[in-house]
Amino acid sequence: MKIFLGDRLVDEKDAVVSVFDHGLLYGDGVFEGIRAYNGRVFLLDEHIDRLYDSAKAIALEIPMSKGEMAQAVVDTCKANDLMDGYIRLVITRGVGTLGLNPYLCKKAQTIIIAAKIQLYPQELYDNGMKIVTVGTVRNHPEAINPRIKSLNYLNNVMAKIEAINAGCMECLMLNHKGEVAEASGDNVFVIKNGVITTPPSTCGALEGLTRNKVMELARLAGYEVREVPMARYDLFVADEVFLTGTAAEIISVVDVDKRVIGDGKPGAITAQLAKLYHDCANSEGTPIE
Ligand code: PMP
Repeated sequence: MKIFLGDRLVDEKDAVVSVFDHGLLYGDGVFEGIRAYNGRVFLLDEHIDRLYDSAKAIALEIPMSKGEMAQAVVDTCKANDLMDGYIRLVITRGVGTLGLNPYLCKKAQTIIIAAKIQLYPQELYDNGMKIVTVGTVRNHPEAINPRIKSLNYLNNVMAKIEAINAGCMECLMLNHKGEVAEASGDNVFVIKNGVITTPPSTCGALEGLTRNKVMELARLAGYEVREVPMARYDLFVADEVFLTGTAAEIISVVDVDKRVIGDGKPGAITAQLAKLYHDCANSEGTPIE
């Protein structure tokens, strides 16, 4: 496998970073998870924009233009002959001292890995997944804003641990006010009486690109889509619940805290949105050539 490291493609065995990299020492950096379908990188410009916004928010200067970064992603896919797969784009603060001071890190490090991903077993896509609410509260927006896709995922990791301990693969995270924020690695949607609702980013959700695309497609299909704060109650009494994420795509939730959602099977509107999403993902995007 070829990895993009710094400013060039190298063999996987040579793709090593320093133990003094602050991405490792402090989780100091930002990242993106991107998907390629059918020989095209889906939503590449949107991912690059979010990456640079996240970097700006943590005062991290990326030593490449957006255009060069987009080209590096395409080149990494090409070098690995990856026409369908998952791309992990990581920017760390780079090599510094053992101290926290990021200004002592001379240059940000760029890492691009293009590989395959299967986040959940097919069975969960066919039958829906069950989730539980976890005690780990989503990061307070004034501490680490959840809109920043930073390398510091401990908040999400701790939520994931709770989910797995409870026998689930995903969970529901609430914010400091008890409002629904998102799942540990995905956004959450509720459908009730044909209206589609998702929490706004101010409630602690990442502005997921899959979320944005699903909202756009749902509106085009004639649905009313709202971004409003919601409580666990709204999920319990929903007709359908689903999660969205680049890696997860769209997956139905059929059980929340042992409340069966709808009739306990993946819902019709979720299936319709998943089809619209896949049709779009397989026909749009930046060509890998
Ligand atoms: N929330 C969190 C915490 C995430 O890590 C992700 C990405 N896996 C998402 C939501 C979904 O965002 P996107 O659709 O852009 O992948």
